[in-house]
Amino acid sequence: MTKIAEVIAELESIAPPMYQESYDNSGLLVGNKGDEVSGALVSLDVTEAVIEEAEKLNCNLVIAHHPLIFKGLKSITDDHWIGRVVRRAIKSDIAIYAIHTNLDNVLRQGVNGKIAERLGLQNIRVLAPKKGLLAFSMLVPGLLIDNIREGMEEIETIGLRENKIDYRLPFSGSQPEFQVTGEIMPHLRNAVQSLASRHRIPTSFWETQNTHPNWGSGVIGEFEMPKVEDYFLEFVKEKLNTPLIRHTARRDHSVTKVAVCGGAGSFLLGSAIAQGADAYITGDFKYHEFFEADGKILIADTGHYESEQFTIDLLFDTISNKFSTFALHCSKVNTNPVKYF
Ligand SMILES: [Zn+2]
Repeated sequence: MTKIAEVIAELESIAPPMYQESYDNSGLLVGNKGDEVSGALVSLDVTEAVIEEAEKLNCNLVIAHHPLIFKGLKSITDDHWIGRVVRRAIKSDIAIYAIHTNLDNVLRQGVNGKIAERLGLQNIRVLAPKKGLLAFSMLVPGLLIDNIREGMEEIETIGLRENKIDYRLPFSGSQPEFQVTGEIMPHLRNAVQSLASRHRIPTSFWETQNTHPNWGSGVIGEFEMPKVEDYFLEFVKEKLNTPLIRHTARRDHSVTKVAVCGGAGSFLLGSAIAQGADAYITGDFKYHEFFEADGKILIADTGHYESEQFTIDLLFDTISNKFSTFALHCSKVNTNPVKYF
């Protein structure tokens, strides 16, 4: 049997919770992580209909992209839809887990990579990498260098280096020391620390302004062949299964390089323009924000739900690749609160 904690650990090995934005509330929102999973349901949002679906499917875990509890709750009553969902989930003993901006902010198996993959973009990389790689340095006695080398093979580092320090001690048999340095994504600090601690090697860490290619907001990539703008919009409509695209004026400029950000992505427009994207696919652009395209890019707003709906498949694949001890379902409820007339 599998515990909820094990499913969470697997998801968070891909999208560590420390990579969520400061305003976010990803994590286990309702339930007990020590419970065994009877079945799990993946959805984009958690609504009463989703909880009802989980009840019918005998799932005691709902894994969603958007956190049901986001801004904090002062009461949990039937007067508000969130209160009703929380109460029903608790009564039915259904846990609710959200994996939100931490899943947006990783390239591998992340929200935006999935959209880019659906669009057939190539050479996909993070649009706005985050600063804050951790540098580390450890002084390793020569006798232990092989252990450290071996341990480091398991940890993804950037610029791993060894500097041999010969002290030229005045007796034979003295061992050289090695200064081992490198950089890691911040969630790997514990892995480096525990390797060093196992061998009693003091290690120092410090934050840098450097970025990691797999960590940050949005993605950018290229089509193999340029697309004329009308064809591009038609193509996006079909691939992202959206009934409508709100877009800025055509530029009479073919589209090859495309920036993508699932959900509300207007904050990345400047990065998309700076990187020379011909088009920017995202959701939730506001009227005044469209002006900022300023003839430099084609903004294509496909809708928030539409841009992120494939996150359900992404989470389903990630979990089903790892676990076979419980039934896993994709929600069939269309939770999009926006309808088109
Ligand atoms: Zn979203």
